[in-house]
Amino acid sequence: MPFNPEFLMEGFPATVREAARDVRVVARADVVVVGGGPAGLAAALGAARNGASTLLLERYNHLGGLASGGMVLVLDDMWDAHLGEIAVRGVCLELIERLAARGLAQFPREDEWGRDAASLQRWTRWGAFDFNSRDKPHPIVFAAAFDPDGFKRLALEMTSESRIALRLHSWFSHALVEDGRVKGVVCDTKSGREAVLADVVIDTTGDLDVAASAGAPFSAGAYILTTVFRLGNVDTETAERFEREEPAAFAVLDKQVKSLIGGSWAHWWLKTPLPGVVWCNCPHMSGLDGLKVEDLTTAELRGRGHLHAAVDFLRAHLPGFERCVVIDVAPQTGVRQTRLLEGDYIVTKEDLAERRRFADAVARGRDYTTPYRALLPRGLDNLLVAGRHYSATSSAQKVSREIPPCMAMGEAAGVAAALALSAGVNVRDVDVRALQRRLREQGADPGDQSGRNADVPALARRIQQRETA
Ligand SMILES: Cc1cc2nc3c(=O)[nH]c(=O)nc-3n(C[C@H](O)[C@H](O)[C@H](O)COP(=O)(O)OP(=O)(O)OC[C@H]3O[C@@H](n4cnc5c(N)ncnc54)[C@H](O)[C@@H]3O)c2cc1C
Repeated sequence: MPFNPEFLMEGFPATVREAARDVRVVARADVVVVGGGPAGLAAALGAARNGASTLLLERYNHLGGLASGGMVLVLDDMWDAHLGEIAVRGVCLELIERLAARGLAQFPREDEWGRDAASLQRWTRWGAFDFNSRDKPHPIVFAAAFDPDGFKRLALEMTSESRIALRLHSWFSHALVEDGRVKGVVCDTKSGREAVLADVVIDTTGDLDVAASAGAPFSAGAYILTTVFRLGNVDTETAERFEREEPAAFAVLDKQVKSLIGGSWAHWWLKTPLPGVVWCNCPHMSGLDGLKVEDLTTAELRGRGHLHAAVDFLRAHLPGFERCVVIDVAPQTGVRQTRLLEGDYIVTKEDLAERRRFADAVARGRDYTTPYRALLPRGLDNLLVAGRHYSATSSAQKVSREIPPCMAMGEAAGVAAALALSAGVNVRDVDVRALQRRLREQGADPGDQSGRNADVPALARRIQQRETA
């Protein structure tokens, strides 16, 4: 546990008053996106590709958020099991295609989807299975394992191709609001406070930092935290063979590893496109608040304790892991849920379970759609929200927060911002039909039409078809 010298506070005041000061304005743009994670990247691309001057702010030195800095290395939850098709398209598929072209993403093609034994054997340890399926083993579906540095690199390439102004190392501090209109944001930087002005601001911080600061209503969500890590020098072939050929011995060792880790999903290690490098989506920790410095510090210390105990055991006992080494622990802590917007519409678990089709749907996830109203903060103008803090109940968010649906929401928010500006209207008054049309024209699926898409996206077609196409 971290040393927390509360007694040193005795006799000191509970608060101090900051002096008012002028803040230097360093930039302005039609659209300012705050938070360069998957949703923010897609939002910035959506806005810039539709004619808006766009600026993207990010606190760290890279883009990608939990997908890259958080080392969450499977793009999943993009497979609609009811329709048997890829639900999330647009910027997300474009990114996968560009990563794959450089050997930095792996995914099963259409002839490998399902429960064929060879396909299960080939793809399960890539994490390319439908984790929502009740069938065991889970069927193989379209999902892409990727390299985190590849994500960072492609994100930078794509933002510069679209002429998006980028300000990294800028930590959002507070929103500038006048009469309910969001006018810009203030960031903390090494050079002091900096203001960035905007006609439309999109909050993609994942923790609703901007909307909360602007006064938007929200609920306090909570879920497990995870300090994801990667191991190198793993003989994955040997590890998979052991699991397949000696299931009883494997089950005993796997249980022991999991008890040392202290919390994980069934498949605690998955392959990455780098040979011998696996990612470990564990240890999970509950009862910690992703907004509290004390809890985030505790997560780091507790998580490392668990993972090093597990790694010592792996090296001593698990075939394939004898020479494994810890390459890195994700620099971005694995926070899944904190503040959740209470927007014009709050998505519920029933909406998802019933596959409710909204007339104002602008994004799809696995087998659900997201209404435009869930991106709109109540009582504020010129502010949109996209990503894991979108307007949903805590239980609904837990099953609709994966990277691809967050990218789909981001793309919709970015395009909506650009359409609002070109029509000279507030984001709340955007013509949703026009937004859905524009999203479809640029390859996304807003989810407003029932039934299956006519095509399998080119990158997912069986290899032979792709070569002859
Ligand atoms: C451990 C873990 C495992 C997961 N596994 C998977 C998986 O296998 N597959 C999957 O698809 N999804 C997975 N998820 C979910 C997924 O990673 C997230 O829900 C998704 O990344 C959310 O995207 P986002 O853009 O909304 O938020 P984030 O990815 O959190 O991005 C937010 C961005 O905003 C920046 N930011 C935040 N605050 C500020 C600020 N004040 N100023 C400036 N910048 C700021 C952050 O640095 C970050 O770049 C997992 C999540 C976790 C935590």
